[in-house]
Amino acid sequence: MSEKMYDVIVAGGGTAGIAAAAAAGSMGAKTLLIEKNGHLGGTSVTGIPLLGVFDGNGIQAAGGFVQRFTDRLISEGGAVGHIHGARWSNNGHMSGDEFILTPFDSETAKYVAQEMVLEAGVDILLHSYITEAVMSGNKVSGITAVGKSGTRKFTSSVVIDATGDADICALAGAQMLKKERVQNSSILFTVNGVDTERLLQALEQGENVHGWGSWHSRIVSGRKIDSSRSSVIHIAGHFVPWDDESTEVTFTAVSVREHEIYLNATRTVNIDGTDADSLTRGEIAERRNIKRLINGLRKNIPGFENSYVSRTAPIGIRESRTVIGDYLLQEDDVLQGRDFPDSIARGAYPSDIHDPKGGRTQFLFIHGGGSYAIPYRCLLPKGIEGILVAGRTISASQKASGTVRLQGTVMAQGQAAGTAAALACIHGTTPRGLSISELQRELKANGAVI
Ligand SMILES: Cc1cc2nc3c(=O)[nH]c(=O)nc-3n(C[C@H](O)[C@H](O)[C@H](O)COP(=O)(O)OP(=O)(O)OC[C@H]3O[C@@H](n4cnc5c(N)ncnc54)[C@H](O)[C@@H]3O)c2cc1C
Repeated sequence: MSEKMYDVIVAGGGTAGIAAAAAAGSMGAKTLLIEKNGHLGGTSVTGIPLLGVFDGNGIQAAGGFVQRFTDRLISEGGAVGHIHGARWSNNGHMSGDEFILTPFDSETAKYVAQEMVLEAGVDILLHSYITEAVMSGNKVSGITAVGKSGTRKFTSSVVIDATGDADICALAGAQMLKKERVQNSSILFTVNGVDTERLLQALEQGENVHGWGSWHSRIVSGRKIDSSRSSVIHIAGHFVPWDDESTEVTFTAVSVREHEIYLNATRTVNIDGTDADSLTRGEIAERRNIKRLINGLRKNIPGFENSYVSRTAPIGIRESRTVIGDYLLQEDDVLQGRDFPDSIARGAYPSDIHDPKGGRTQFLFIHGGGSYAIPYRCLLPKGIEGILVAGRTISASQKASGTVRLQGTVMAQGQAAGTAAALACIHGTTPRGLSISELQRELKANGAVI
């Protein structure tokens, strides 16, 4: 088996992985980013906006890579920037908290992710599935990956697990949080031929749209990438698109282009993102759900009469494994907006829990609309050296995971992990042996908010 050596290996080229690789590479670490798909971006390029970049008071809580990614999307014509001005409403009441989102075109994002990682001097290896953690005692010293050309081994001083399922940590024998249930799963899909202004009018006038406005609902207007006028770019709420009025659909629609929306509206429960049989069941169920939903939308929801599904993502897993690290972030830490001396990133979005049983989504708001710190210890899998974890699987209780998993927060964790890995290589130490104050200085110098 051929063997190649790196300073840093980033496992998984998704939301956290691209930020981690860009950070490590730009600090001069010889970095490899390995991804099982044929493109970078992971869940972030399936048709969802960046959330968690600002807190409920409109203060930016994730900067650095997140901001550079946004700026690059704007310059490539794939985004117009952060959209301010909307407020949360929950259980029919407006909350004082601001709701700020950054919608973007997911195809442009695949290109931007790739270019930003390459510009940082990182080697990219696509179409390669990591199946083994190479161990030297309790230290991870590399991985093996399977591709069309067979099995290849790569060694490194530090591995960053950004697989979204903590695959490398699991292979290395890390402790995982015990869970009875996980959040539900959804296929995100794109619908074209939608008259969003007609939909908006119908929603506002309660015209033939059962259920709208009685629980959680929100309409945000702004400019789209292909238009100079302001129109509806985000609608969240629930409606009943079928003749059977007993089944409501909780949905989020984001529109970056005229007549096109990204829809997050179907869900399947009890999908294990680490089990191929379960994932297969989820893909089949969700494709059926989408078919049923689009038929209902075309028939019953104004604005959708001539719509059609133009693109679907692979099934989106909100929650699978969670690593137990040197610290387990608690619900109370998040909701009280707690600070930590080893903070390396901030989370700012309410804990967003999509009901494991398929019912209404639960939002737990951060006290005073602020943000909370993510301790570096949450990125260090307990008892294992040479590895950092970044993304939705960092060490956090299930309720705390509901907010650390948002994209803005995940990219900030990725930047922190990549920076820590590069510093560990520079100083010839392990991620656990690093000086926190030096890490924090480096992060701040690169625009991170900690
Ligand atoms: C349906 C849905 C809707 C959401 N809506 C929003 C939203 O509106 N706004 C928001 O901010 N957040 C949203 N989120 C949350 C957010 O998108 C995710 O939590 C976040 O993107 C996860 O980032 P990650 O880096 O941990 O994982 P991912 O982005 O999924 O990246 C993991 C990467 O690792 C690769 N990989 C996995 N295993 C291996 C392996 N063994 N070998 C090689 N490569 C591997 C994957 O292919 C993938 O590219 C949503 C999530 C879902 C599922």
